[in-house]
Amino acid sequence: MKIAVLPGDGIGPEIVAQAVRVLQALDEPFELEYAEVGGAGYAAHGHPLPPATLQLAKDADAILFGAVGDFRYDNLARPLRPEQAILGLRQHLELFANLRPAILYSQLAGASTLKPDVVSGLNLLIVRELTGDIYFGQPRGIRNAPDGPFAGEREGFDTMRYAETEVRRIARIAFQSAMKRGKRLTSVDKANVLETSQFWREIVSAVHQDYPDVKLDHLYVDNAAMQLVRAPKDFDVIVTGNMFGDILSDAAAMLTGSIGMLPSASLDASNKGLYEPSHGSAPDIAGKGIANPLATILSAAMLLRYSFNKSAQADRIERAVGTVLEKGIRTVDIHEPGLRQVGTREMGDAVIAAL
Ligand code: NAD
Repeated sequence: MKIAVLPGDGIGPEIVAQAVRVLQALDEPFELEYAEVGGAGYAAHGHPLPPATLQLAKDADAILFGAVGDFRYDNLARPLRPEQAILGLRQHLELFANLRPAILYSQLAGASTLKPDVVSGLNLLIVRELTGDIYFGQPRGIRNAPDGPFAGEREGFDTMRYAETEVRRIARIAFQSAMKRGKRLTSVDKANVLETSQFWREIVSAVHQDYPDVKLDHLYVDNAAMQLVRAPKDFDVIVTGNMFGDILSDAAAMLTGSIGMLPSASLDASNKGLYEPSHGSAPDIAGKGIANPLATILSAAMLLRYSFNKSAQADRIERAVGTVLEKGIRTVDIHEPGLRQVGTREMGDAVIAAL
């Protein structure tokens, strides 16, 4: 069970340190190896994804990732910016499936902008395709329009496309995830307007034949956005393409009101994965010892569940987080008057004590 640990920038090293302590407290034979990534990779080796870091990520069975992003490197050419590291890892490791749970522990219902009864106990999973769609389709560019009513004017254009293999493999991961949860899957597309979406719907429906126990329905993305805000607890698992998933998963994250709580996994076809919190490097609070490590600790739980098939250990970590919240222990981002405010390390201590 070799884990590549890539802390990255900003609060990355602080929050990853706590997740590593939690993993070590489980007394499993993990082998941990560290490498620089993002701005830290550029500072040490002149590239946000140094060759040695990429090699370590390839050799490992799973990757625990903090966050990348450092304003000191914002003026570098795009390929050298810290954020390119995560795109490079996704591409090189073929991490095509992004799993983002949106879970609202009932103790934190007050943090949401929605009414507590609408969101309390929310537990949905968004499965987003990560390596295809309009974000990667060719051709794309800015040119002089060759035809149409604005011929000769400058125009921007992109290409939305999905191959059958791409849709099949993400659909399989979504159906398998639904089997491990409430056995309900909603596929989100725009099949009333887009050919790509019509094709997506056809293939998802075909894959459904292999998972008859899962109840599948289809929603147009505009309706899905409405339902997500109106009645988010109606959803179990949502599967969608790269662009729709990008937007819906951020909306779902904000339903919970606490970005410091949300883990994520990016998987390849054999369940090797990169696990990271959904938030960024939070340079505004880096080095202060106040960042919330729970999203990273919960990412480590996902690592155990998806890459090492250790669901019981994953459950233990998730329950420990629930216990800590139940005791009223909070980092500053989720703090409410009357509760006990702690720093990053003390939060790690509390989770380990609850384990
Ligand atoms: P961010 O998620 O880093 O921060 C947004 C706000 O949430 C900030 O006020 C921050 O203090 C707070 N916050 C985030 N995580 C927190 C935590 N664990 N505990 C307490 N508060 C927390 O987003 P941003 O400010 O837009 O971006 C900062 C940098 O992170 C940028 O360089 C951006 O490119 C990068 N980024 C990286 C990733 C990634 O590594 N996958 C994702 C998003 C953004």
